Amino acid sequence: MITVAGSINMDLVVTTDRTPNKGETLLGKDFQTNPGGKGANQAVAAARLGNTTKMIGHVGKDAFGVSLIENLTQQNVGTEYVKTKDGSSGIATITVAEGDNSIIVIPGANFSWEAEEWKQYTTIIQKSDVLVLQFEIPLDVVEAFADMANKVGTTVILNPAPAQALPAGLIALADYLTPNETECKELFGMEAEEAVAQFPNKLIVTEGEKGALYHDGTSLVRIPGFPVKAVDTTGAGDTFNGALASAIAEGLALKEAVSFANAAASLSVQHYGAQKGMPLRKAVLERLG
Ligand code: ADP
Repeated sequence: MITVAGSINMDLVVTTDRTPNKGETLLGKDFQTNPGGKGANQAVAAARLGNTTKMIGHVGKDAFGVSLIENLTQQNVGTEYVKTKDGSSGIATITVAEGDNSIIVIPGANFSWEAEEWKQYTTIIQKSDVLVLQFEIPLDVVEAFADMANKVGTTVILNPAPAQALPAGLIALADYLTPNETECKELFGMEAEEAVAQFPNKLIVTEGEKGALYHDGTSLVRIPGFPVKAVDTTGAGDTFNGALASAIAEGLALKEAVSFANAAASLSVQHYGAQKGMPLRKAVLERLG
């Protein structure tokens, strides 16, 4: 079983011809609401691949909260540990104009954690094979979950995104760290090749269509990607993490697990939308050949 403790957001996507100037009102072209948040996305990716997956997180007391829980349930993600908190759900307002995105994220309920509230989840963490974490909930909550998982022998995958200062203690608690190349540079101040050598069999850096890189203690291991014509790379990293969790939970060796994650992520970039493009197991196995 996989448990994801993290963010649940609604993405509000506005498409317009150009970015409005300060104080200006524009008539835009299109509006869409897409369920998102790195936590929820990674949970959906794992569930799509057929693993029992539970979500720990918070939505707000608003219409988005209701529909975010409904969406997770429809995607076969267990929502018994998703709480509804006072205030707004987490949202991302995304303006797509002139081929670029401008994004404002309001964490809302994702940041509404009481002191030691995480203790309520001891049993589910203990029952899980893998716990997946990201940085869209408070850092002290992430640390508490990683510590709890570590104590009960549950494997921790920490996707350190969005990048923020990574305490040494948290690095030690994580079994796997999965930044992309940009995040790797921000976190460690080094290129991927150099950084992975410092954390063998732990730091896995995703490198877009090239695949992913880690160090096995003796040498660099580059697990090639499955280059495809990308239609929308939103959610590639989230699919990679959900699929990696899925493969690790099933007991695959790191090399095979990363290849499985590359195959899943390559399928996701061939479709629009983060969650919409996430593949089923059958497609991933076919791509692996
Ligand atoms: P992020 O989405 O977080 O920026 P990456 O761009 O490194 O992270 O992508 C994550 C993973 O998605 C890669 O390791 C790779 O497996 C897959 N991927 C991304 N872009 C492509 C692509 N164009 N073709 C095939 N696979 C891709």
